[in-house]
Amino acid sequence: MPEKRYVAAIDQGTTSSRCIIWDRGGLPVCSDQREHAQIFPKPGWVEHDAAEIWSSVREVIKGALAAGGVSPDEIAAVGVTNQRETVVIWDRATGKPIHNAIVWQCMRTQDFCGEWLKTPGWEQDRLGRGRVKDITGLLINPYFSGTKIKWILDSTPGARERASRGELLFGNIDSWLIWNLTGGPNGGVHVTDVSNASRTLLMDIKTLEWSGEMTRFLDIPRAMLPRIMPSSAVYGNTSPDGPFGAEIPIAGDLGDQQAALFGQSCFGRGEAKNTYGTGCFMLMNVGDSPVFSGSGLLSTAAYKLGNEKCVYALEGSVAIAGAAIQWLRDNLRIVDESQDSEYLANKVDDSGGVYFVPAFSGLYAPYWDTSARGAIVGLTRYIRKEHIVRATLESICYETRDMVEAMNADSGAPLSVLKVDGGAVKNSLLMQMQSDILGARVARPAVNETTALGAAYAAGLSVGFWESPAKLPSGGGGDVTFSPGISDEKREEGYRGWKKAIEKSRGWVNDEERGAH
Ligand code: ADP
Repeated sequence: MPEKRYVAAIDQGTTSSRCIIWDRGGLPVCSDQREHAQIFPKPGWVEHDAAEIWSSVREVIKGALAAGGVSPDEIAAVGVTNQRETVVIWDRATGKPIHNAIVWQCMRTQDFCGEWLKTPGWEQDRLGRGRVKDITGLLINPYFSGTKIKWILDSTPGARERASRGELLFGNIDSWLIWNLTGGPNGGVHVTDVSNASRTLLMDIKTLEWSGEMTRFLDIPRAMLPRIMPSSAVYGNTSPDGPFGAEIPIAGDLGDQQAALFGQSCFGRGEAKNTYGTGCFMLMNVGDSPVFSGSGLLSTAAYKLGNEKCVYALEGSVAIAGAAIQWLRDNLRIVDESQDSEYLANKVDDSGGVYFVPAFSGLYAPYWDTSARGAIVGLTRYIRKEHIVRATLESICYETRDMVEAMNADSGAPLSVLKVDGGAVKNSLLMQMQSDILGARVARPAVNETTALGAAYAAGLSVGFWESPAKLPSGGGGDVTFSPGISDEKREEGYRGWKKAIEKSRGWVNDEERGAH
């Protein structure tokens, strides 16, 4: 038998699928990537073709193996990470989906969620506290899988009955891929992990089992739900007839954001990662019992390694982060490329007292104010475009500070270092500002593929390719740490200005106007 030198990670994202093969030192050896179609049947509706996704995953597995000249016999384990919440329902006998996958972004169940919120016993306060939060850690919201599953069952004749008989299966993309990789209709295993299950609205976050109260309310037959497993465990072997052409243990499964937390080695309570892309996604490890937020953050299962206790996280997101830079580029046209924001902002020492609140569609955590709209405040004749660019970068850092403040208050475990990833972290000025504004260290890894690395870690740990979380490789160095370089006074003065700017952005539209802007 050839030596087991690698772990393969499949990263199935919202716009593309990737396979990255990692070596024992935690470095990527080879990879392949393929995009898939975004289907928009109506405004606000988003679908994917699950069969196309499975086909793209087969292609990228073969492509990655070929690119690196890697033999399947050299792969110790396979890990899966995926776009979360997206719903696939398929026929167990044929392996065919009965409907396009309904993507996490899809808002088709908004009306149902509105009705649900008015149902006695299910009311929620402004911060999302209520029965659903108590059971699942989440909110009544179309993003999560539960109402999407109900929608397919309600709108497909006979589906609910067939699901009750176990003829139809539900899965998020992780379950769909693992079932197919392990043989599909010929003995495929139907599983998910705690991190994915905790995004469905159906899992009891304390017991890590499907909640009878939730499945009854949404009328979702238990027979169609996958078995909830640890995030690091052997679920089954890849089928020799599949894209690997060999039997390899599938041994890791994590939703993408939790995988990034894991890939960033946030194994201790109070450790957090923030991903800077279109929006920001921040997760903080809160230890082995869930923390229920007083600021409207979500509680979620982060990961569970084999028989060890589940580790939980608080999760917060901001809708507009890198997207504010795109807005400068596409709408104001004051930067040609996103990366020029660094050079332009560096031409001035500060933002000249300008604050930009990019509340284009209201304010999310911790404000939860749909009446807010974007605002640029503090303008004088002195202000040039460079100040506005700088203020835009600062806004991303202040939004992150707001989330950190909320998480610190909820968890009682103050953040010491923020680990960062995503497309915008290449901007070193942004990272330095982030450290200044947080008053905490900001650590940027050399390997930015933290999501795929997290899935690889989970898989490698479960088969003994790596011994323990403490002994995981850190990716060969090259990480950069940014440390605060301004005084506490200056930091707090800046943050007070941000809070003032936030107040200016609030109460801009009323209920009737909300839909129109
Ligand atoms: P997503 O996965 O959400 O599509 P990415 O992780 O690819 O996003 O990051 C792209 C986002 O990062 C864009 O919104 C872009 O404006 C922003 N971005 C990319 N490079 C920079 C940079 N050097 N400085 C600031 N923002 C950047």
